[in-house]
Amino acid sequence: MSSQENPPSAGPDDPAANLARIKAEIETALKEAGREPGSVALTAVSKFHEADRIEPVLAAGHRVFGENRVQEALKKWPPLKEKYPDIELRLIGPLQTNKAKEAVAAFDVIESLDRPKLARMLASEMEKQDRRPKLYIQVNTGEEAQKAGLAPAEVPAFLAQCREEFGLEIEGLMCIPPAEDDPAPHFALLAKLAKSLSLSGLSMGMSGDYRIAAQLGATHVRIGTAIFGARPVKEEITGA
Ligand SMILES: *Cc1c(COP(=O)(O)O)cnc(C)c1O
Repeated sequence: MSSQENPPSAGPDDPAANLARIKAEIETALKEAGREPGSVALTAVSKFHEADRIEPVLAAGHRVFGENRVQEALKKWPPLKEKYPDIELRLIGPLQTNKAKEAVAAFDVIESLDRPKLARMLASEMEKQDRRPKLYIQVNTGEEAQKAGLAPAEVPAFLAQCREEFGLEIEGLMCIPPAEDDPAPHFALLAKLAKSLSLSGLSMGMSGDYRIAAQLGATHVRIGTAIFGARPVKEEITGA
């Protein structure tokens, strides 16, 4: 299966219907791969979309959302959380150390941990706030200069440092393959790396390739465009 079969278009303009269709497609992919039903959780990536666009998806019962900017999340989500207290918010974009405090307060999962300075800040904020978002290490599987994340070879030492020096628990790994590449080898690489490090979480797969990711072991896929349609503002997904 190639990513061409699954272009990141949204279909009918009905986010809740798109979400239901995608969830069914993921279950089919899991079945084909001989994986356990329900073993992939879907993060609905709501970045750049307003609350009124997100509400139908909440009303349909979905609770896991991804945002890539701390400031945007702080504006958008508190009112929605009042209405739906069991929302899980995942930070999937790069995090500056000076926003670590707000990120620890606002997010349940941070998927973009990629350097010792940030690990130190997060550890200190988690201690201060007595709040422990789950953490994923971002891996730059394509070793692209403009993209955030550690090179695969750097991950074992960084993981050890997170644990031993900063006392952090790491749940898994996250990657964003190069846009122009076949994503499958990148997903396979991330899966292999996670397995070798006994990490259970694997965040990989977006609108164009979630079925492949589900087949190759993803535990979390991050899907925006295929649910909500094109984002109102164009942006390059570099995670840089
Ligand atoms: C925006 C974004 C996504 C979602 O991308 P789509 O192609 O719209 O599904 C996934 N992961 C990250 C890190 C992103 O920034």
